[in-house]
Amino acid sequence: MKQTYGLIGYPVKHSLSARMHNAAFKHLEIDAEYELFEIKPGELNDFFSSFKERLSGINITIPHKEASIKYVDAVDKISDAIGAINTVVLENDRLHGYNTDVIGFLKSLKEDLKFKPAGKRAVVFGAGGAARAVTFALLFEEIEQIVLVDIDTKKAALLADELQKDGCNAIAVEKDPMAIKELLLNSDLVVNATPCGMKKGDPELLDPNFLHDKLAVFDLIYNPLETRLIKEAKEKGCNAVNGLGMLLYQGAAAFRLWTKKPAPIGIMKEALE
Ligand code: NAP
Repeated sequence: MKQTYGLIGYPVKHSLSARMHNAAFKHLEIDAEYELFEIKPGELNDFFSSFKERLSGINITIPHKEASIKYVDAVDKISDAIGAINTVVLENDRLHGYNTDVIGFLKSLKEDLKFKPAGKRAVVFGAGGAARAVTFALLFEEIEQIVLVDIDTKKAALLADELQKDGCNAIAVEKDPMAIKELLLNSDLVVNATPCGMKKGDPELLDPNFLHDKLAVFDLIYNPLETRLIKEAKEKGCNAVNGLGMLLYQGAAAFRLWTKKPAPIGIMKEALE
């Protein structure tokens, strides 16, 4: 019987995940299909209540990564520490939650951006589901300091507290331009884990005059491929990558969890490009 996988989020129309996973299923002759499900925040309960009859596994994106945890029967250690999942697998009639964003981010950070976090200082914009994966990934790799900046300062402070409990030197600061200038001058890495930059007319994430060529820039956004941040970072001589590599590697890890087969990375990459 044909198996159905998919992505839930709101919005999801921009997503390239269906293209990537359907190419992989076709290449390995797996009778499965990957669909996009636009699920508004109030619809999560209904979605999960009919999961087992309809689906074999899903990915989860903005804004459901944290809220979905309560609908699964078990989570792996990493997701439990982070408090967010991006992958669900139906196994023996139980829903298992995983977070493959951690491995996806780290692989792209090291292979695409050539950045080694140990002993370095990072500024992370955002304190949602993706920022949780990014900051815990950096903590696992022994980063020296993480500064969190979110429109919602309380949310950033809560995440900083959680990271501190796990031994990370993490602080949250207000989104004040002068404070951010100082921070960026003394940092090695800046990560955009907010949706700011996805839409035309989005406000500037940061003043480009604060960027310098010793700063590595990782923008999790992949649609558009070149956000304003990436463009301005490159103009300032920064090493900068978008979220396409992370999308590929987190997708490959989810594919392995669903099918128990190695993901055809080359085919998936070609489908994305
Ligand atoms: P989320 O849970 O909604 O979190 C985003 C956070 O950023 C929210 O707390 C939001 O505050 C805050 N924010 C929005 N605009 C901001 C700004 N200008 N400055 C500072 N903070 C701001 O979303 P998410 O699931 O973490 O996803 C974040 C982004 O990462 C999305 O663009 C998503 O597509 C991308 N992503 C990419 C990959 C990949 O594989 N490449 C993987 C995961 C996520 P409010 O809630 O108050 O708006």
